[in-house]
Amino acid sequence: MVDDLYQETILDHSKRPRNFHIMQDANRTADGYNPLCGDKLKLYLKVENDIVQDASFEGCGCAISTASASLMTESLKGKTKDEALHLLEKFHDLLTQDAASTQDLGKLVVFCGVRDYPGRVKCATLAWHTLKSALNGTGDLTTTE
Ligand code: ZN
Repeated sequence: MVDDLYQETILDHSKRPRNFHIMQDANRTADGYNPLCGDKLKLYLKVENDIVQDASFEGCGCAISTASASLMTESLKGKTKDEALHLLEKFHDLLTQDAASTQDLGKLVVFCGVRDYPGRVKCATLAWHTLKSALNGTGDLTTTE
């Protein structure tokens, strides 16, 4: 039952991604690319007083990468830079460690099943790697390799 619910959420976000648009007044952007799968995305952030006021993305990728970026942008709004980076770590743990805690992850727990498909982990983490480079202001192309 839970698995079905998780899959439904991922499917929903891949078909109708939230915050899927260019942000004209973004003050942080970064590009991400996952050569293993061909997923590409551009992330837009509006950061003021160290708080993520708005987040959006555009690009093309598989269902997992699109759903992950969609749920990530939803989760980021209102978070401080440190909170966002903490969430990134928790999300990475969720995908790579069997006994990972799901505390603080909210809806992002729907990706726990990706752990069983190591080849897809990079699809799910692409948006987050890109987030890191956007927050750190490097803005360079981030690849999962
Ligand atoms: Zn992918």
